[in-house]
Amino acid sequence: MPAPHDPFIDLVPKQGIRLTPRHYAYLKISEGCNHRCSFCIIPSLRGDLVSRPIDEVMHEAQTLVDAGIREILVISQDTSAYGVDCRYATRFWQGQPLQTRFVDLARALGQLGVWVRLHYVYPYPHVDEVIPLLAEDGLLPYLDIPMQHASRAILKAMKRPGDRDKMLERILKWREICPELVIRSTFIVGFPGETDADFEQLLDFLEAAELDRVGCFTYSAVDGAAANALPNPVPEALKNERYARFMQKQQLISARKLQQRVGRQMTVLLESVTETGYIARSYADAPEIDGVVHIDTEQRLVPGEFCRVEINGADEYDLYASPSR
Ligand code: SF4
Repeated sequence: MPAPHDPFIDLVPKQGIRLTPRHYAYLKISEGCNHRCSFCIIPSLRGDLVSRPIDEVMHEAQTLVDAGIREILVISQDTSAYGVDCRYATRFWQGQPLQTRFVDLARALGQLGVWVRLHYVYPYPHVDEVIPLLAEDGLLPYLDIPMQHASRAILKAMKRPGDRDKMLERILKWREICPELVIRSTFIVGFPGETDADFEQLLDFLEAAELDRVGCFTYSAVDGAAANALPNPVPEALKNERYARFMQKQQLISARKLQQRVGRQMTVLLESVTETGYIARSYADAPEIDGVVHIDTEQRLVPGEFCRVEINGADEYDLYASPSR
């Protein structure tokens, strides 16, 4: 008899992996996290990192591909730490040895012939090894890297490494290797102790890094989080003001970046039909969290399939296109 499902230990949800909509699916590669970010209680709920063996992950990915999905979204609490807990154990997949390691997994998934999108990539130094792979077919040149802040003092209070200059240097280097790279990130404003100077550093970072897709949250205490004990909470009104300034700045950056795509051709994955056309996503758009590509056409297209389009307009978050002739 299989053991009953335990949501805090089991690596896949009780109901298994859902295929809704049919053309993309999430692939969970590990559970738990070895970090102790001061605002987060996931490690106390889910425990330390437990990676699924790479052959099991690849088997599931292949099953999804065989079922007809077009895009795999790799998720976990800390994707780039994959395999640390099992010391990068070697397993066999289709007769070949593979190490349970982020870079090996990325390379193997990239050969399945579908789009592969990497989420929750904590910016460890070895992430640099994956960047050349993102310029190849299969692995999308898209990285979701939650950065949370850019001020060294705030990152330290969050118990996260790095600072503005180091992150910026890496991003510029990554773009040299993979010019098409789209970076998505999330940030927290109004963390306890965040001064005007810290916040200005964050805005400067946004301007310099020109990230493509950005989410922002105002800090709010979570029961049991270490950050609750930190001094100098930021008043709600100031948090909201900073949030508005942050979003305003990022909106301008996003609009500027999307405008650069006008006149170019892109491959998109068709999501759904609307009264005026179709909704699709390019490699730069993860489902649910990023923008979309609106396609205005009388032509009959098939949701769930790829299509080549020419971009003929852009706003702050979305692109507008028609099928390529
Ligand atoms: S924020 Fe992410 S990296 Fe930090 S402890 Fe939570 S799950 Fe781990």
